[in-house]
Amino acid sequence: MIPVSEPDLGALERSYLLDAFDSGWISSRGAYVERAEDLLRTLTAAPHAAVCSNGTTALHLALLAAGVGEGDEVIIPALTYVATLNAVYYVQAVPVVVDVLDSTWCIDPAAVERAITPQTTAIVAVDLYGQTADYRELRRIADEHGLILIADAAESLGATLDGRAAGSLADISTFSFFGNKVITSGEGGAVTTPRADFHTAILQLRNQGNHPTRRYFHDIVGYNYRMTNVAAAILTAQLERASELIAQRRRVVDEYERLLAADERLRGQEIAAGAAPTPWIHSVRLTGRSAVERDAVITALAERGIESRPVFPLVQDMPFVPAAQRTPTPVAAAISREGISLPTFPRLEASAIAQVCQALRDVLSSFADGE
Ligand SMILES: *Cc1c(COP(=O)(O)O)cnc(C)c1O
Repeated sequence: MIPVSEPDLGALERSYLLDAFDSGWISSRGAYVERAEDLLRTLTAAPHAAVCSNGTTALHLALLAAGVGEGDEVIIPALTYVATLNAVYYVQAVPVVVDVLDSTWCIDPAAVERAITPQTTAIVAVDLYGQTADYRELRRIADEHGLILIADAAESLGATLDGRAAGSLADISTFSFFGNKVITSGEGGAVTTPRADFHTAILQLRNQGNHPTRRYFHDIVGYNYRMTNVAAAILTAQLERASELIAQRRRVVDEYERLLAADERLRGQEIAAGAAPTPWIHSVRLTGRSAVERDAVITALAERGIESRPVFPLVQDMPFVPAAQRTPTPVAAAISREGISLPTFPRLEASAIAQVCQALRDVLSSFADGE
């Protein structure tokens, strides 16, 4: 089976991991935590970076640091991983779900503007499948209405917009280092920000609300969202290899585009002017297909030894979302219904990519023949 995703862990990860183990520093103190944070600052050009336990706790820390709380409205896109929504609920805020752009699949700034009310305090944009959201427009809107702009950059480490790196495009940006992400530490996350006040709050919240100087004194309710030095050792190695890992993924995505671009039955994410996405998971729309047909394609590919996935379901369709929060988002609904994610990882060979593309074309043709 060709998997959708596979981490690329090599000799460097192994040596740093064993070094952390042998040092005895296996909890959240140790040199690798700081090394990983240094590398993240360099890679994102963000003045401050704090690693944490995963991408979901990174989002929670971002909302807490931004002061988002009970009754506040937070605008999020319909098309994202459920963690973006969950974090809004963690702080007792109200998610206001808006539609995405047909072109980039990222949050639609015009829809954001229409959704603003006196209760709105923050926007969480999501860099879907490695493509940065439209932070030029989002910045203008946030400034005009006094809102905090948060970037869920879990999928976009290495991407740029107008030459500025993901992690430096919003007031606070969050990353995930889950096993299928561009850079992984098994489980892990990070928060970057240009603002010293946000960074100070994040460090305290991540560490049980511990007062910066008084031991065992906690002046706020905090969390244990720390990353272990063991995970940070793997992360440090991955970050040192970031350009190599991203280049390998780029090769894979370029090959998919070369082989599939001419196929009119498929439509990919369009790249916005000035944007250079990071190649995370190559996803395409099976234009005009129903969700049932898309799922049949996934099953048919699996029968040919190829794992694929549906594009994310809409967050507001989750059963725990109250009826009043289930905004209709037709563009996101169409992408979600037609979308399929193909195997994308650094070690995926050209022959396997060709096999995936051939299988996809064969399956689509068999559909046209009325299978
Ligand atoms: C992966 C991901 C997250 C959550 O990250 P975890 O590390 O799995 O908690 C959040 N948002 C998006 C868009 C993601 O893709």
